[in-house]
Amino acid sequence: CGIFGVIGVADAAQFVALGLHALQHRGQEAGGIVTYDPAAGFSSARRFGYVRDNFTRADVMETLPGTLGIGHVRYSTSGSKGQTQIRDVQPLFAEFAMGGCAIAHNGNLTNAEQLKRELIERGSIFQSSSDTECIIHLMARSIQSNIPERMKDALRRVEGAFSVIAMTRSKLIGVRDPLGVRPLMLGRIGDGWVLASETCALDIIGAEFLREVEPGEMVIITANKGLESFYPFERVKPRFCIFEHVYFSRPDSVIGGKSVYETRRRIGVELAREAPVEADLVCPVPDSGTPAAIGYSQESGIPYAMGIIRNQYVGRTFIEPAEHIRNMGVRLKLNVNRALIRGKRIVLVDDSVVRGTTSRKIKEMILDAGAKEVHFRIASPPTMWPCFYGVDTPEKDKLLASTMSEPQMRDHLGVDSLSFVSLDGLYRACGEDAGRDNAAPQYCDACFSGDYPVRPVDRIARGFEL
Ligand code: 5GP
Ligand code: SF4
Ligand code: MG
Repeated sequence: CGIFGVIGVADAAQFVALGLHALQHRGQEAGGIVTYDPAAGFSSARRFGYVRDNFTRADVMETLPGTLGIGHVRYSTSGSKGQTQIRDVQPLFAEFAMGGCAIAHNGNLTNAEQLKRELIERGSIFQSSSDTECIIHLMARSIQSNIPERMKDALRRVEGAFSVIAMTRSKLIGVRDPLGVRPLMLGRIGDGWVLASETCALDIIGAEFLREVEPGEMVIITANKGLESFYPFERVKPRFCIFEHVYFSRPDSVIGGKSVYETRRRIGVELAREAPVEADLVCPVPDSGTPAAIGYSQESGIPYAMGIIRNQYVGRTFIEPAEHIRNMGVRLKLNVNRALIRGKRIVLVDDSVVRGTTSRKIKEMILDAGAKEVHFRIASPPTMWPCFYGVDTPEKDKLLASTMSEPQMRDHLGVDSLSFVSLDGLYRACGEDAGRDNAAPQYCDACFSGDYPVRPVDRIARGFEL
């Protein structure tokens, strides 16, 4: 998901809408905005679909007055599977004795089911199937006298990945879990302050990037006092999601001081070193494979070309939940540039193989178009484990790399050769020159390694084996 918040600007909702639009790649199912205005109180609009189709309309935007606002774009990883229900669309809002509070959450809580059972037994009435609602009920049960303190209490009880942006009548609050699995950026715009999942959302409104909210940090921003910083959790070594660098974040964002584009390009360089091949053209699977393909081409000297053309009016295929839709999705979205491909040996570069649907279709399309050879190069290690921290990787039995060996995958995909970048190669591309520190890994890489930095207790209770 993508989250955004701003305080201290006129028409906050307009900024939130722009910020969410820049974060649309992080979630396309639905979006929501909450604002506060002293005269109007809290206002909220939550809608299915793209930001541009909902939060550009005057009849929606004029219901969101105020100089303080937060928003969320949703991509469902927990809660109701299949069709998203509007009650699960964030920001969630709750009225406490000391006033209202809205919450937008990116990530996934690994003990939400356990907490929910416990809370329901003690009388909480849940209104959604979202893991985020646990935070609200835990806040309601806290004995603290103000909302930020209640939020600290609540967040000390939840486990897993959370970057949270919340607001009260007068405060904008940002928090990251102790490992800092999901990103959260801090910026300034004029006298106002901004929080956003990625720097690309600061760029779109012309805000200045100040720094990241640190793993385990809570920032509380008010119009008069400015920013206050707290560290409510026990401090641990951070483990940011390495897959944000590979796929999830936008290439024009900067994370941990590193350009996402540059990291992806360097993954391609690593791949060319680790898995060279004789070929005529390097082609990306657009857009997710593009920077790595550029890196592969630069390092290998094989010319880069757009062998596959993407229809810009279709969203990310992965986000469509049902299998048959996903299968069609590839053709709706990608087409082969036949004139270029015919008779050539192609290095095809994509960011990841998950179910293998995309790769298989594309290979068929490329061979149909008369390619002589197809060599598949993947800018991440084999995805073998599900993610429990907010990326919707399917269960193990649906993950191609978890059910097949590399030679089996090569044959299943029907390509002439198949190589994945090594985990160390990926770490090097992320700026860790010595590769992965196996004693104390620098990133979360559980979907590749099975090394889960937070025990997924709910899933273990439901039979998942580490
Ligand atoms: P597959 O077709 O193998 O299931 O998925 C691979 C494609 O989906 C890749 O082109 C990649 O860009 C995209 N993708 C890979 N992993 C993920 C993921 O975990 N989440 C999302 N949203 N997309 C993914
Ligand atoms: Fe990121 Fe993978 Fe860890 Fe999930 S399991 S947080 S996708 S690195
Ligand atoms: Mg892709």
